[in-house]
Order: sequence, then C-alpha cells, then structure tokens
Amino acid sequence: MAEDARRALPSVERVAAAMGCTTLPRALVVDCARRAVDAARAALDGNGHGNAMPPTHDAVVEHALALAAAGTLELLQPVINATGVLLHTNLGRAPLGDYAITALTAAAGATNLEYRLAEGTRGSRHAHAGSLLALACGAEAGIVVNNNAAAVVLTLAALARDREVVVSRGELVEIGGGFRVPEILAETGARLVEVGTTNRTRRADYERACTDSTALLLKVHASNYRMIGFTETTPVHELASLALPVVVDAGSGLLDVHTPWLDAAPAWLQDEPGVRQCIDEGAALVTFSGDKLLGGPQAGIVVGRREFVDRLAAHPLARALRADKLTLAALQSVALSYLAQDGAAIPLWSMATTPLDVLRARAAAIAGAVEGSAVIDTEAAAGGGSLPGLTIPSLGVALDVGSVTNALRELRVEHRVIARSEAGRIVCDLRSVPPAADAVVADALRAVAAATH
Ligand SMILES: *Cc1c(COP(=O)(O)O)cnc(C)c1O
Repeated sequence: MAEDARRALPSVERVAAAMGCTTLPRALVVDCARRAVDAARAALDGNGHGNAMPPTHDAVVEHALALAAAGTLELLQPVINATGVLLHTNLGRAPLGDYAITALTAAAGATNLEYRLAEGTRGSRHAHAGSLLALACGAEAGIVVNNNAAAVVLTLAALARDREVVVSRGELVEIGGGFRVPEILAETGARLVEVGTTNRTRRADYERACTDSTALLLKVHASNYRMIGFTETTPVHELASLALPVVVDAGSGLLDVHTPWLDAAPAWLQDEPGVRQCIDEGAALVTFSGDKLLGGPQAGIVVGRREFVDRLAAHPLARALRADKLTLAALQSVALSYLAQDGAAIPLWSMATTPLDVLRARAAAIAGAVEGSAVIDTEAAAGGGSLPGLTIPSLGVALDVGSVTNALRELRVEHRVIARSEAGRIVCDLRSVPPAADAVVADALRAVAAATH
C-alpha cells in the first residue's frame, strides 16, 4: 500500500511543469518541485501504517509554489524603510543618492581603478576616494577597506603586532555583530594594556602605562552605548601630548561637526565626535565606517598621517581587506559631495534634516489617501549603533488593524514596506522613507486597510 502511495506521487518534472513559474531560473523551479515531492514522500513514510493517502498532484504543486514564493522573498531586493531608523543595519544602513548610484553604475565597466590616465602607468586604488576623504577632513592621507572592522584590524596588524596597545577600560566595548575590541586586538597579535576604570580614565592613567613596547594609544568611540553620571574620558588632544601615536576608532563616521550643514548641525547629533576634529586634536589615524553617519556605501576608512597610512597600504592584509571599484566609485562621489558642502546629495543627511512641516505634509497626503489612518508624531533614530538614546522628531502614518503581526507581514511580503508597531497600531515613519516612495507606502497601507475593514 505504502509502495503504491509513493508511486502515485507526481514526478519532479511534472510538478515543475505545472508550476508555470516564468520569472525564476528553471534550476530554482526544479529545486522547489523536488523539495515539495520529497516532503510529500517523507509525509507518507512518516505515517508508518502504510495506509496514508498520497497528497494530490495539486497539493504538491501548491507546496512547490509556496517554496518558490518563499525563495523569492529571500532574494536581495529593494525595500522601503518605514521604520524611522535611518541607518538600519538589517536594511543595508545608509541609502545611496542618485549621484553615488550613477557613479557606481558608471564604474561597473572598465575604469581607471589602479591606472593613471596621465602617464598610462599603474596607479593606486587609494588615489581616489581615500585621498578625497582625507582632504575633506583635513588629513594627510586616507585608505579605504571593506568596513570599519577591517579598518581597525588592518591598523592594529600594521602598527601594533607583538607590541602593546593602551585602551581605557571604559572603551573595551562590543560594537555588535561580534566586534569586540579586546578580541580584535588579540586576533591582530597586539597586546592589550587596560587602563583606568569603566567610568573614568585620565591622561595620567595612559601615561603610566606607556613603555618601550607601546605601539599606540587606542581610543574607541562608544558609539552604541552611553554612560552618564560620574564619568571622565581623556580627550584626543591630551592623549596626543603623550608622544605616542593616537588611533581613534570613531566608528559612526561623522566627518566634520560643521558639515555638510551650512548653518548648524542637527541638535540630536549633540557631542558626536567629528573625524576632522579628531585629526585637528592630533590623532595619528582615525578609522570610521562608510555607511553610518558618512552616508555612503559599506566601507572602512582610515585617514591620518601619511607615514602610517602608507604602512597600512603596504601591509599584506590590505590586499585581503581592500574595497572594490563599485564601493570606491560611490564613496568618491560621497567625498566630492562633502567637498562641495552638498548635504542634499547625501540621502542620510537630507532625510535626517527634512523639516517637520515637510514630513507633516507628506504624512497628511498619505493619510488622506488611506481611510482610517492618522498622522502621528513619532521619534525616529539614527540607528546603526550610533547615537544611542537620542531620537529625531518625526511624523508617521498610523493605522489600526485587526492583527498588527499580520498587517506588518502583509506590508513586507506584498509591498516590501518595512513598518513598525506602536501602541497596537502599525506605523510608517516618514523620516526614513524617500519622498519618491510615498505613493508605494500609501498604496500598501490602503491595501492593508481594505483587508482589515
Ligand atoms: C560600527 C563600528 C564599528 C564597526 O564598523 P563596520 O563598518 O560596521 O564594520 C567599529 N567600531 C565602532 C566604534 C563602530 O561604531
């Protein structure tokens, strides 16, 4: 009986043909068909009594189509970030602007990545984005690698292997995604010398720890947590007076506290350190992310004194950690935007600084198109592990729904809109939504509202 039931199962070929999928490559369709047939067979075998009815042909095809739909959702694709978290790590952090997208598209073909057009000879991939970013923050030289974690690894490996690195106990942090300062130090062969206490570390603590084996003093910006109360950290300029190279992991990558705004920096940035200010205070090197507050592609940037940047570029790990031409092209355009003081070209900054009345008008337009929805005040955030606890005033469109879980899923799966829940409602926060996507958000909310009411 069980034999018969197994024989009655449709073949993988028949299921694949019946699926009628034309958008997916055939190999993927066949894979889904095979998994559906395997599952039907396993269900029969698992029954144990040999008297199970085989699933119908249609049921197997339906399961295969569900697998194909699930597989399609796994593909990398554009989504609309309506979470209000501007640098959402799971959603790819900083969005790129038209200028950067054009630049990376143009670099997709042959490009002078490591080629000097004037001489027709071999050049350096650090000549473009790295040098321009150095100029934008007043440093002598710069180099770009895959991400800031790689930038820190390269810096320590090139400058501190088998030597000592002095770090405040208050800065032995975990940045997330497994990046722990003490572990990174150990991996690069540098010896950690802890100084001070969790809440207070003074210049004299560093001074006492310096020996002939000290390679550098490392200052790590505690991007993702905030310590309040009886605290004291040693500013870069005081560390720089100790006659050893000071390396600052600035993390969030605010390039300059004075740009790209022509007037004042947004209040919520508060005392976020700027890369330019660290250089001005005497840091030998500063490392930071390309896709946090810089507003560019994923990258790690090291700027500072030329002698040190040259040592990083010459280290064998530089080859393993280097950035690709698409990243460098996008990053170059971001650097040029900073040099042109053109904050509007960087979506992160245009989103972060959009006036509330502009957001209110956009929210009202969406709410006007979605019955049962309302404009509400919200709190957006920088995200990406930067500026913890600080929020950016924002506006959103809220909708009462039967099931928040189901509504959020429908927004994701049917419309690729990632919203959030708040007080039993779904909320699309407009600060993280590009204005061009408002119509999609309105359509998606209308569909969810129609399903609810
Ligand atoms: C984010 C961050 C990192 C890691 O940077 P990635 O670009 O995500 O690799 C390292 N250090 C600090 C201080 C950070 O904020």
